[in-house]
Amino acid sequence: MYIFVINSGSSSIKYQLFEMPEARVLCSGLVERIGHENAVLTHKIYKGGKEDILTSTEPINDHGKGLSKVEKLLTDAQVGVLKSLDEIDVVGHRVVHGGERFAATTRITDDVKKDIQQLFPLAPLHNPSNFLGIEVAEQIFSKASQVAVFDTAFHQTMPPKAFRYAIPEEFYSNLGIRAYGFHGTSHKYVAGKAAEYLQKPEAKIITIHLGNGCSMSAVENGQCVDTSMGLGPMNGLIMGTRSGDIDQSVIFYLVNREGYSLDEVNTILNKKSGMLGLTGYNDMRDITKAIDEGNANAQMAYDMYTYRIKKYLGAYIAALNGLDAVVFTAGVGENDIKVRQMVCQNMEYLGITLDEEKNAVRSKNLREINKEGASVKVLVVPTNEELEIARQCYELLAAE
Ligand code: ADP
Repeated sequence: MYIFVINSGSSSIKYQLFEMPEARVLCSGLVERIGHENAVLTHKIYKGGKEDILTSTEPINDHGKGLSKVEKLLTDAQVGVLKSLDEIDVVGHRVVHGGERFAATTRITDDVKKDIQQLFPLAPLHNPSNFLGIEVAEQIFSKASQVAVFDTAFHQTMPPKAFRYAIPEEFYSNLGIRAYGFHGTSHKYVAGKAAEYLQKPEAKIITIHLGNGCSMSAVENGQCVDTSMGLGPMNGLIMGTRSGDIDQSVIFYLVNREGYSLDEVNTILNKKSGMLGLTGYNDMRDITKAIDEGNANAQMAYDMYTYRIKKYLGAYIAALNGLDAVVFTAGVGENDIKVRQMVCQNMEYLGITLDEEKNAVRSKNLREINKEGASVKVLVVPTNEELEIARQCYELLAAE
């Protein structure tokens, strides 16, 4: 079965073509700067253990034009990996917000599309772009089944005591205001890999996804019981450009006393805060470099970033009443040795200890980095959201 995975953003389309169930990647790529004169298409082809990269810069007006360029490459006489587009059985779409309506991967019908549109207010930055990707793919891959995989779905198993906010009841029942959580596809994938590694399906696992956006989940028996993001993606951990948890009073103070508009505060908290706001850099590599050069602000930001993670670890160990494994994943979690070291420091009481040598090894594989004999495993598990989307599409169709 050939499954084409699409992650459609406001000005980009990321894609990967899988052959399932082997999980073989035939090609992948990215169309960036859609709507600009100098849009960039990067297309990678994987054949016989080799990777060929094609790039082009040209005007690409809209998502439809972008995807039709990809379509031509897929079946191109020279570089194509398919004879015909009809070979693609499924197009799997990443959709950020599924609300309470979608607790699982779903075949896209007209009704499903209407529901995704109704969820636009809950994810105004993401769902409209994801929806556009669906509309365009329906035109281009008209023979394929279209399937939506929601970032929020994995978190739908949270109990009300975890997902409700202590605000008047009608805001939940009338408006759906509650915590939904995000990065669900990644949390599910790495928690699954960890449980497999532990050979313990019922394991209690805390997954720490540290990319540009950051979130944590408490998982038991393969099900999410709590997560750090909320109605939107601003809550919880300190991120590249988002503040994570702050006292709501800060917003009122800025608006009522300092005259900022709500839009300005939204931009500040989403795009100008987090590590960027604290240090001027949002990439952890630049921050580490600044620390090495003696930048005290960068050091403090790093301390804040890792301290916040420790606090959530404590909370989630309490929520789970125990712990089998902590999992680090995504750009920072997989690569930043010092973040892992600082998070795991002084956690012996909770059974978390780090083997410094194992932690310092760089690898693209799942690895165990705790001390020998530790009661809690500390794992680095590279995430693969595209593969998880392909897998869920495959399972959905195989079950039908
Ligand atoms: P996204 O949330 O966009 O999927 P990623 O998971 O790719 O993000 O993570 C991107 C972030 O990972 C970068 O902003 C950077 O801070 C961090 N990162 C990537 N490589 C390294 C590295 N070698 N060391 C430390 N941090 C890294």
